[in-house]
Amino acid sequence: MALIVQKFGGSSVGDAAKIKHVAKRVIETQRAGNQVVVVVSAMGDTTDELIDLAQSVSVDPYSAPREMDMLLTSGERISMALLAIAINAQGAQSRSFTGSQAGIMTSAKHGDARISEVTPVRIQEALDAGDIAIVAGFQGFNKDSKDITTLGRGGSDTTAVALAAALDADVCEIYSDVDGVYTADPRVIPAAHKLDAIDIESMLELAAAGAKILHIRAVEFARRHNVDLRVRSTFSTDPGTIVY
Ligand code: ASP
Ligand code: MG
Repeated sequence: MALIVQKFGGSSVGDAAKIKHVAKRVIETQRAGNQVVVVVSAMGDTTDELIDLAQSVSVDPYSAPREMDMLLTSGERISMALLAIAINAQGAQSRSFTGSQAGIMTSAKHGDARISEVTPVRIQEALDAGDIAIVAGFQGFNKDSKDITTLGRGGSDTTAVALAAALDADVCEIYSDVDGVYTADPRVIPAAHKLDAIDIESMLELAAAGAKILHIRAVEFARRHNVDLRVRSTFSTDPGTIVY
């Protein structure tokens, strides 16, 4: 039995139909004989909309960084609970967890916290019980301040890789609306082609150059902890790109 971590970005859980589709995919992965941990981002543009809301009640909402993290982490909580509800409705067992419940400990810096330690005891328990574990991405908890933190924009990738490392997962799959890593941006350069595999140093360079495929901290984390990554599409069965 393999342990697979699957991360679904905002465009993959953008509406109810997409959440039901993700639920189906996740259940198929479990029924193929795997243990599955799912990390989700906030639905669609929810994070941007929450920032807009904060800006409509304050000219400088980031002067209350703790409250901004309380606000922004709610986006991922919506996704995690809806996905768990959808999975349960489709006949499998699933439980959702906040970053803090999943044991994601971070530095204290609001808005840009670094993961310091991952103790996924409750995730392991859920897997042992045969459940699909859903984890809210992009968030953690600081032991000293006892406050909720966020990992920086795009930080759900890092949540997924950190959990994969802590659980010694066989692979961490990063799902979005593109079916892998391309030689160039296919929307700009039509001749760009998809790579079946890319080495992690090259992936790191791409991320550093601003390619929005994987969050750079996630790639760094994967390199440091030897996590096998696969970049693939939620909406196709293409095997995507393996990052080795
Ligand atoms: N929802 C957060 C953001 O939009 C985190 C993520 O998507 O990974 O930045
Ligand atoms: Mg997002």
